[in-house]
Amino acid sequence: MNYRHAYHAGNFADVLKHAVLALIIAHLKRKPQPFRVIDTHAGTGVYDLGAEEAGKTGEWRDGIGRILADTPPRDVVEILAPYLEVVRAENGTSESGEADLARYPGSPLLARRLLRRGDKLVVNEAHPEDGALLKMLFKKDPAAKVLALDGWMALKSLLPPPERRGVVLVDPPFEEAGEFHRLVEALGAAHRRFATGTVMLWYPIKDPRRVRAFHRDAAALSIPKLLVAELCVRAPLSEGALAGSGLLILNPPFTLEAALETLLPYLVRTLRQAPGAESRLEWLTGERRTSS
Ligand code: SAM
Repeated sequence: MNYRHAYHAGNFADVLKHAVLALIIAHLKRKPQPFRVIDTHAGTGVYDLGAEEAGKTGEWRDGIGRILADTPPRDVVEILAPYLEVVRAENGTSESGEADLARYPGSPLLARRLLRRGDKLVVNEAHPEDGALLKMLFKKDPAAKVLALDGWMALKSLLPPPERRGVVLVDPPFEEAGEFHRLVEALGAAHRRFATGTVMLWYPIKDPRRVRAFHRDAAALSIPKLLVAELCVRAPLSEGALAGSGLLILNPPFTLEAALETLLPYLVRTLRQAPGAESRLEWLTGERRTSS
């Protein structure tokens, strides 16, 4: 296990993933019944953007850095609010009112900040050092449970959640061969155990043919209501660098498609790095098919 999210925290892929996670949680909060957030590949929970790792790649500057430096249109401000309110609250505000960006909340801390009393968080991280940091972060927090299992096993053992409401994030590092196959298996397993739950699967876009094969495999499960949201900040490169990332979302809240129709073009404009930047929003199964 070589991957450490500290090098990538706050990058363009995190912006899309975390904005969508926050929107899903905000939607769950529309009903009073408690819910559970499950994060199978959780990372450390929060990242120091002044640390050596973040400084080495500087990826956050072209992600959350660009978003916070921008003045988005009002409809985008509303869509990003649940996400950016947490990011801003983790950071100080300078005299000019600008957010000083020093700490970036990963998915566990973002989710925790959005929970109400009675809602629960279960986060799982297999890397011993990152898992220890995650445990420290939620020490003595009765709403958060930290596990150190294999994420693919954890997914099965944690579903269905006792509340029968919630969202599951599956965000593997894609450092081993077969991760796309494992994602399809995870989707099938999650749907068998928790057919009404919202499940978000994250994947990298390097080779578009590999991504299309993944979509075909996922669609072949014949699970209804699978929405794809993708953001590419450049055209794919032949050497296989990350050109974009996608989310495959089972049972998205009914408000999410419209929010993404507005958000994705904004993210393309704001986060583009080279020619070929684009977004895609498409139903793999169920609902109507759209594309942008
Ligand atoms: N979800 C986090 C966020 O958005 O802030 C980022 C997670 S990062 C992309 C993937 C994490 O999965 C890494 O911290 C890595 O150590 C962990 N990991 C790798 N293999 C794993 C496994 N088999 N089970 C659980 N975690 C694993």
